[in-house]
Amino acid sequence: MSTRLPFFRYHPAPLASGSIRASAEECVCCNRSTGWIYTATFYTAQEVNGDFCPWCIADGSAAERFAGEFTDSYGLVGVSEETLREVTRRTPGFHAWQDPHWLVHCRDAAAFIGEVGYTELAAHPDALDQLRLDLRMGGWHDAAQLERFLTHLGEDASAMLFRCTICGTHLAYVDAS
Ligand SMILES: [Zn+2]
Ligand SMILES: [Zn+2]
Repeated sequence: MSTRLPFFRYHPAPLASGSIRASAEECVCCNRSTGWIYTATFYTAQEVNGDFCPWCIADGSAAERFAGEFTDSYGLVGVSEETLREVTRRTPGFHAWQDPHWLVHCRDAAAFIGEVGYTELAAHPDALDQLRLDLRMGGWHDAAQLERFLTHLGEDASAMLFRCTICGTHLAYVDAS
């Protein structure tokens, strides 16, 4: 069993995020049992009877063979075509209530860290400030209500936390059931 997973620039800790887990299951693309299997989203018109190993994600073979994408390109504005392809076709997606999407900072896709609640988000004040601003611009005009919503993140709604791969700034968006 191989223990060293391929490195994903835009999803550096896929075990911590729960997108990849230890499993004896065979990969539906390479038919190998690598000890690890992908558990999150894959969008394709084809029928896929199983899951992928991290290596078939990293080298793009799963996306190519099944003509699919792990993540929608929604939100990936202003990044290079190469980055767009890497995120959608060679990077593990993640579990979310709504369709998962990537955030962008410094004209590069940010790295997905994981789903977090208020406590973890508050440990990254830059992400909390940015989220508060986004929600205000999105129509949350009652400040007290907004703070109540933020402090309850991790319950009905949670935050998807990212870190800019260029400057290290944390950023987040809200995912709700
Ligand atoms: Zn494989
Ligand atoms: Zn940045």
